[in-house]
Amino acid sequence: MTPLPPDSTIGIIGGGQLGRMLAMAAARLGYHTAILEPQADCPAAQVADRQIVAAYDDTAALADLADGCAVVTYEFENVPVAGANALAALVPVFPPPRALEVAQDRMVEKQFLNGIGIPTAHFAPVDDDDQLAAALARFHGNGVLKTRRMGYDGKGQRVFRNMTGSGFSGTCEAMGNVPLILEDFVPFEREISVIAARGADGGLAAYDPAENVHRDGILHTSTLPARIGAATAEAARTAAWKILGELDYVGVIGVEFFVLEDGSLLVNEIAPRVHNSGHWTEAACTVSQFEQHIRAIAGLPLGWTQRHFDCVMENLIGDEVLKAPALLAQPDVVLHLYGKAESRPGRKMGHFTRLGSPTGR
Ligand code: AMP
Repeated sequence: MTPLPPDSTIGIIGGGQLGRMLAMAAARLGYHTAILEPQADCPAAQVADRQIVAAYDDTAALADLADGCAVVTYEFENVPVAGANALAALVPVFPPPRALEVAQDRMVEKQFLNGIGIPTAHFAPVDDDDQLAAALARFHGNGVLKTRRMGYDGKGQRVFRNMTGSGFSGTCEAMGNVPLILEDFVPFEREISVIAARGADGGLAAYDPAENVHRDGILHTSTLPARIGAATAEAARTAAWKILGELDYVGVIGVEFFVLEDGSLLVNEIAPRVHNSGHWTEAACTVSQFEQHIRAIAGLPLGWTQRHFDCVMENLIGDEVLKAPALLAQPDVVLHLYGKAESRPGRKMGHFTRLGSPTGR
């Protein structure tokens, strides 16, 4: 792929904070951005050249986006696949829509991963309460019931511990009567993620694994370095690169893992986009995950992933954003706010990265 000349326009489907940070990174490399997002004055549009205010599957809007852009990417994995495929017939779309297909359905995702030799939690499809009882019995009464599609930040999930027998009547209805999956409960020691990238030429890169802590199903902190051995870090990177290769992927991916007591890994999920657990890269690396993604989809060389500091990234959820002025008074903090006017409980308003010791490479 010939590198995209500066002054070209990159289309981004989705106008949240990830789109915003992608648009900012694109601007630094001399590119314009156009955002497709139904909500007017979204975080991404505030820093982009243009917003098309329309639904993600609006055919005319997608054609308009294709018309004005040299390449199109997306900031969330629930972009309708049909729309992405139609778009890909008009303009290069990276990451490839196949990655969306895999990531949108937890069962398809696990089947794909297991099919390429990457282990996940054991799982069973659940479409009714009887299937739930049978699957729970198989997993000795422990499991996490999740919607197969459209789940994020722990939404649409229910945890079962030591629950066998009957008494599940109404559970599937309470989950919205949508296709579900029961995952075996993983007694993980910790959770980590790897942000990896594949360039248009097939070149690979990866940042150090982050150790993640969730609160109420939402990412709370990402800490570097993760408390894992070198072999576990290597296995995580290798798995991420295998996924990228198999999907003929171009761009940045986030891969979340459970680390078991013996250091072995199970993939929890993949996110075919830049990822919250990679926000620390903007503060502790020369090339952030956002610039890395833009480089990849623009056919530019991938950037240096070396981490220069130990660090902890923390999300500012809801009213935690009020801490911003106090955080700015601390010299070791790098703050990033998303331009969201209204703070609501559970809403990601910003994040900050506290830098620790230099890595002394
Ligand atoms: P998810 O939306 O799948 O990323 O799940 C949100 C969080 O729930 C994960 O980060 C874990 O902390 C926890 N979790 C999810 N699946 C499992 C599982 N199968 N076993 C144990 N904990 C889980």
